[in-house]
Amino acid sequence: MKALIISLDNPKRLGELKTVAGRLCADHEVVVITDQNNVSGSWKKAWVTTESIGANLVGALMKPAKDADYIISSGDIGLSILPALAFKLGASLAAEITDVQKEDNRIILTHPVYGGKAVAKYEPGKKKVCISLRENYFDPDSLDGQTEADKLTILEKKVELVEKKMEEMEGISLEDAPAIISGGRGIGGKDGFDNLSKLAKLFEGTIGASRAAVDAGWVPNSLQVGQTGTIVAPDLYVAVGISGASQHLAGITNAKIVVAVNKDEEAPIFKRARYGIVADWKKFIPVLTEEIEKLK
Ligand SMILES: Cc1cc2nc3c(=O)[nH]c(=O)nc-3n(C[C@H](O)[C@H](O)[C@H](O)COP(=O)(O)OP(=O)(O)OC[C@H]3O[C@@H](n4cnc5c(N)ncnc54)[C@H](O)[C@@H]3O)c2cc1C
Repeated sequence: MKALIISLDNPKRLGELKTVAGRLCADHEVVVITDQNNVSGSWKKAWVTTESIGANLVGALMKPAKDADYIISSGDIGLSILPALAFKLGASLAAEITDVQKEDNRIILTHPVYGGKAVAKYEPGKKKVCISLRENYFDPDSLDGQTEADKLTILEKKVELVEKKMEEMEGISLEDAPAIISGGRGIGGKDGFDNLSKLAKLFEGTIGASRAAVDAGWVPNSLQVGQTGTIVAPDLYVAVGISGASQHLAGITNAKIVVAVNKDEEAPIFKRARYGIVADWKKFIPVLTEEIEKLK
């Protein structure tokens, strides 16, 4: 049995994919999107490519994918490549998986449903399976050593990249932040988020937001947490002035410790929170920030 991993050049993502491949079989090959000639970790075989557009990669991936039993990827790359690969290979497809178990010869794949309120378990119908993982749900395996890689030959460029616009972003991304201090409508405006940023920096994390705060134009869209925003899994998630709508909670199902600060003791967010503070954030957050600064 063999697994083919397709990944961006990101040690955390590659490590998560390796963890899952290790649960399924012993032989692991890898395709990494990078401009380097080597790939971190010890692999049976490795390929590299600088091509990152899914439509251009699919044709080139057919050869290594043909003799793999499991094709595993994650994030946008996984979502853009695996459906087409599964169709072409006649494989089962499981998207946004949050757990993978192998029991005897059956594999059981878990996917959250109903906005994270329940989980569904699937058993693929075909022997060959394409699995896209939800990021941050698996402990990354270590990537010891280096493997010399071959260049993946891109057969046909179906899509040309005309322009690339990078959104200016300071600090760490929502997906990778160990701590997220999120603000909602209760923050009341742009300035309130400066207070949250100060606290986020102390935790070496970043700020997030509810859709209400994004829709009000207080913070960019890229900071939205939830069903239609980013799904996050930090060690610490602090929800400030956020009521806890199901669509918001869908984005934090895998957050380890949730703290809620809300002046309404009936706010649904308190049901999800391990620690709840019933207070006006304007009084509480500056005091908390000051106390944490003292500990630094
Ligand atoms: C299809 C769909 C998709 C959606 N996707 C998302 C999504 O991805 N993410 C998301 O967040 N939402 C999403 N929503 C919107 C969601 O339903 C809620 O409307 C939204 O999450 C509410 O944001 P909020 O909690 O900031 O605002 P509100 O619900 O208005 O809550 C504000 C909270 O702030 C508290 N508050 C007010 N002042 C203070 C103060 N001074 N101190 C402390 N607390 C205070 C209030 O008590 C209240 O609980 C989606 C909705 C739909 C229909």
